Amino acid sequence: PLTDPAALLDGLNEQQRAAVTHSGGPLLIVAGAGSGKTRVLTHRIAHLLSARGAHPGQILAITFTNKAAGEMRERVAELVGPRAQAMWVMTFHSACVRILRRESRQLGFTSSFSIYDAADSKRLMALVCRDLELDPKRFPPKSFSAKVSNLKNELIDPEDFAGQATDGFEKTLSEAYTMYQARLREANALDFDDIIMTTVHLLQAFPDVAEHYRRRFRHLLVDEYQDTNIAQYTLIRELVGEPGGAVEPAELCVVGDADQSIYAFRGATIRNILQFEQDFPQAATLLLEQNYRSTQTILSAANAVIARNEDRRPKHLWTNSGGGARITGYVADTEHDEAQFVADEIDRLTDAGDARPGEVAIFYRTNAQSRIFEEVFIRVGLPYKVVGGVRFYERREVRDVLAYLRVLANPEDTVPLRRILNVPKRGIGDRAEAMIEALALRERISFAQALRRVDEAYGMAARSANAVRRFNVLLEELRTVVESGAGPATVLEAVLERTGYLAELQSSTDPQDETRVENLQELAAVALEFEQERANAEDESPGTLADFLERVALVADSDEIPDEEDEGGVITLMTLHTAKGLEFPVVFLTGMEDGVFPHMRSLGKTKELEEERRLAYVGITRARQRLYVTRSVLRSAWGQPQHNPPSRFLEEVPEEFMDWRRTGPTVRAPEPKAPVVARRGGAPAGGFATGRKPDRPVVSLAPGDRVTHDTFGMGRVVAVQGEGDRAEASIDFGGEKPKRLLLRYAPVEKL
Ligand code: ATP
Ligand code: MG
Repeated sequence: PLTDPAALLDGLNEQQRAAVTHSGGPLLIVAGAGSGKTRVLTHRIAHLLSARGAHPGQILAITFTNKAAGEMRERVAELVGPRAQAMWVMTFHSACVRILRRESRQLGFTSSFSIYDAADSKRLMALVCRDLELDPKRFPPKSFSAKVSNLKNELIDPEDFAGQATDGFEKTLSEAYTMYQARLREANALDFDDIIMTTVHLLQAFPDVAEHYRRRFRHLLVDEYQDTNIAQYTLIRELVGEPGGAVEPAELCVVGDADQSIYAFRGATIRNILQFEQDFPQAATLLLEQNYRSTQTILSAANAVIARNEDRRPKHLWTNSGGGARITGYVADTEHDEAQFVADEIDRLTDAGDARPGEVAIFYRTNAQSRIFEEVFIRVGLPYKVVGGVRFYERREVRDVLAYLRVLANPEDTVPLRRILNVPKRGIGDRAEAMIEALALRERISFAQALRRVDEAYGMAARSANAVRRFNVLLEELRTVVESGAGPATVLEAVLERTGYLAELQSSTDPQDETRVENLQELAAVALEFEQERANAEDESPGTLADFLERVALVADSDEIPDEEDEGGVITLMTLHTAKGLEFPVVFLTGMEDGVFPHMRSLGKTKELEEERRLAYVGITRARQRLYVTRSVLRSAWGQPQHNPPSRFLEEVPEEFMDWRRTGPTVRAPEPKAPVVARRGGAPAGGFATGRKPDRPVVSLAPGDRVTHDTFGMGRVVAVQGEGDRAEASIDFGGEKPKRLLLRYAPVEKL
């Protein structure tokens, strides 16, 4: 490690050095992509420790993604050694969860509160909307979820909102928000947005708690500051404290780039960066102007694109890295052709020794676009991983088993409890569930308590009541395992065995169930790894079930990239949003078509288009040496080939930087369907969360099942016909007559 403060400054330019050594008042560093902002943060941390006598425990560094936090921790550890361990280098969410676990009692939670991820909160909102008997067409639960999330990002709690709701829609929303929040509370749970909002409320309501953290964190560093929302901004202010308070304000250093603000749709506001000087009157501002990441060609292309945005301050970013190769452009006939081109090109680069798979990234605008690359890569045998998208933790079997663990960790947790009530099938049908719910309402007790008092439920068939009793016994048994001090891995094993879940899958002849077993094995491995990791870390407690679930909840929502498989690494597939802050020697920007990127939703809307353009800027500036831009003339949408014009961003790159490998589409009749990919056992790249299999299972439904549909909301299956890809269901969504849906394509999910 570099303990010599002078050596620490060697690898920095003058402005970077000034930023690293700045002391006293708040510091804002605004600079374009690749100018070393993140590097400045890591070196600043090292400098605080080695030259300014700061203790690791006094430092709180916040980054936007788990991946970025991991990298930053590594980089600091390289600079200062194992002392880095005691530092808080983490995402907003992780930091807040830590604070909340410690302070939960102040707020009336128990420290084992659950964290609801996006899917959980949607499910809970769907339940709330059903209980309020809302018409899902007028009040789609999904849009309610999104609206509640926005409110929380602006720190508007249910009472505030009730006071400001004006029209009928808002009043209904307000009612749902209130009930949703009450249900969370009942379940001793927080959703993702609550984590930040609740921490802010905690610090504002309990001055002694706030003071405690202000004394503790003397240095706050925030990366990607342009993407903070109001809640996060307020959190930072609360942690820093005011001049003249009981504690001197902490030293704040934030870095960001207004041109890379890409989360306005999640409530992030560039205002936070533009008004930093007003908000923090003693603030100093530093600019970084040299880009160390990309070639001049790539940088010039990025600058040309972003210059089209009206609403921005111009920057003068330059680089020493030389002109470099021109940007390769390719116009494909179809999306298959596009993916094939990318695969061929990667093959060519790796054969020539110009790049390893791990140095290559493929970006696209929306998750769904990964599928075609996956198909082609599997077929030609290129190793890859998908970051984001339908992930391991979203698979049904994984969620089922985690639901058991969550119920064991927190008996009052209603959402997972209802999920597993009849999973695997044990004869507790919908009617029995409804009776339990009625009992809960009548007695004003939670669903979990009602379940235990099944004897008081009116009119329940003896058989159902017995099934509920057996279920209670099962949970009691499993709880004994937990209380006996077993670690998460053992508890998980007990769940798999005692519930019969595993046995049922193992005896099935459905090949999908085989994959499910593999996924559960993988989950067991995750739990074991977690136990071992905790056992090896000295200052950490041996991981409890709640710790494990917390880890999973944070990872499941993240963008975590698994470890490289072998030395060559694997190709990374990700959306442009997850690419933020990262860099790759070779980048493919794909789907450069108006209506794809820029996204359909943004066309014709100036502000939205500017945000899309910033996303293009982010994408282009991830590339270090080689950049490819591709588009397809035809792309199928909803099974129909669609003719897409080139992305306007493509046309904004001056021709002098481009080298078109192919411009003329030879548009023919739409290609035949993609070749059927051989199904292989297990995930292609080995680990969980790595290669997602390209085959999407068709949801299997039976009459009576409850479902949610992306647009129609909640419904109940009336009848099912056909099998596999041809399976069709009639579903009653409360309209005049049931809707018939082809399940292969319908965005329905079983509840
Ligand atoms: P982004 O806006 O994309 O987040 P950034 O401003 O955070 O970019 P970094 O990721 O910190 O930029 O740096 C970009 C690359 O340039 C990294 O590989 C980094 O190591 C390198 N770099 C930064 N400053 C220097 C320097 N003074 N000397 C050599 N390399 C540098
Ligand atoms: Mg950065």
